[in-house]
Amino acid sequence: MDIAGLVKNSFVDYPGKIACVIFLPSCNYDCFYCHNRQLLQGGYEPLSMTSLNAFLRKRKVDIEGVVVSGGEPTIHNALSELLTNIKNFGYSVKLDTNGSNPEKVKELAEKALVDYVAVDYKAPLARYSEFAGSKIKGENALATIGYLLSSGLPFEVRTTVAPGLGEREMMEMAKELPKLPRYVLNRYRKPEIYPDKYENQVQSPALTESEIIALKPKLKQFQPNIV
Ligand code: SF4
Repeated sequence: MDIAGLVKNSFVDYPGKIACVIFLPSCNYDCFYCHNRQLLQGGYEPLSMTSLNAFLRKRKVDIEGVVVSGGEPTIHNALSELLTNIKNFGYSVKLDTNGSNPEKVKELAEKALVDYVAVDYKAPLARYSEFAGSKIKGENALATIGYLLSSGLPFEVRTTVAPGLGEREMMEMAKELPKLPRYVLNRYRKPEIYPDKYENQVQSPALTESEIIALKPKLKQFQPNIV
């Protein structure tokens, strides 16, 4: 499997742990605000497994966790093998996923190959395809979240507050999600690279940080663990 990128140190990507972040290529979604478009289009320098293993061996003394991100990691058949390899070095593993593959997340959890999962929830169910790409539905993300809640595995759900998500949409999402242990709202940043067809969406205004903070008390009625 190609490794499309590596961030050697991160204090923010794995709650409570110093971690490195591995990026896997390609994605089954097409979010207009994607910041990793070079991973979707093949514009990256692959890192060999030999180099990754040398890095993991050397850094065991100062990093505790490995975040496996993308792109979308769960579309890769060799993901279990990669995670087994990382676990064999003794690292904790966090998986970042768009939630499209609940069965794969279940399989990885049952094999004890993941210790923490971050799942995206991109838009109200009825409007998912406007944000994640045509034909994409949010039911799989809800199924992934439902599984994680029942599994007891630590996890969080993340929403990028993109243009088109106003107060009404944020409230809809907070209501249609089950009560989450941690719900992270990320402020929108315009991507540098995006397809022409997304020009209008990318350039539209999104809620500002202060507007999101002002919304928090209302959202907390449904999602008390909002960050
Ligand atoms: S799910 Fe993530 S990687 Fe895939 S297109 Fe959306 S933002 Fe990009």
